Amino acid sequence: MAATTLPRRKTAAETIAILDALATQHPNAWTELAHTNAFELLVATILSAQSSDQRVNGVTPAFFARYPDARALAAATTAELEPQIVPTGFFRQKAKMLQGMAQLLLERHGGQVPAEMTALTALPGVGRKTANVVLGHTLGVPGLPVDLHVMRVANRLAIAQAATPEQVESQLCAVLPPARWTLASDTMILHGRRICRPRPLCPECVVVAQCPFAASMASPAPAKPKAAVTADARPPHKSPPARRPRPGTAAAPKAKRAARR
Ligand code: SF4
Repeated sequence: MAATTLPRRKTAAETIAILDALATQHPNAWTELAHTNAFELLVATILSAQSSDQRVNGVTPAFFARYPDARALAAATTAELEPQIVPTGFFRQKAKMLQGMAQLLLERHGGQVPAEMTALTALPGVGRKTANVVLGHTLGVPGLPVDLHVMRVANRLAIAQAATPEQVESQLCAVLPPARWTLASDTMILHGRRICRPRPLCPECVVVAQCPFAASMASPAPAKPKAAVTADARPPHKSPPARRPRPGTAAAPKAKRAARR
């Protein structure tokens, strides 16, 4: 099988220019998870796994009113938590993670959300993406969350070329100033949701001229050469087998005559 040739990866200047252009298409990009502090965003981001921001925002106002901090959440039982988060899906696992996260926040950090990657990812239900969301949006620590949208958009545009979220994060962080990390992620997330979907709406995209993926879709695949059909290559013509007329039909005498010739 022929090896796939990757497009040239964009330079730092090209990456910044592309993200500037995308920012004009999505000027209000920011997390769409409703929150008023780091604790609420941490809870909302855990709930958003395998769910949509709209579903999470549908349950969090009542949830935050009942559990406004780590102490209140740690005191709840999972049986109490589960019915309140059903619409977000995977509610049993999420209830366990939320309660465990709150308990560890109390034990290790006095109920405060730590502004540090290692401490955050030690909490149940908190991976690198969730930690970056909380750090970048509420704690003033630059973070570049990479979800499936960022993976898709960055690779299609060749501003990153990597198979894992950690590699994409590392490549983008290496070329962007830290102050731009969080907004770059939010912009790509919105672009992935609205325009660069799995089936992309390239004619509506402001960076279509810089996109190798769009170029590859536009150029038709080279036609496969058709094998020349020569007389020798043609399958031998076979005459259909002669039908035997049924005795007593009008065709029977004709068939007999033909047989005699
Ligand atoms: S041109 Fe198409 S594939 Fe490229 S980033 Fe825009 S929407 Fe995505």
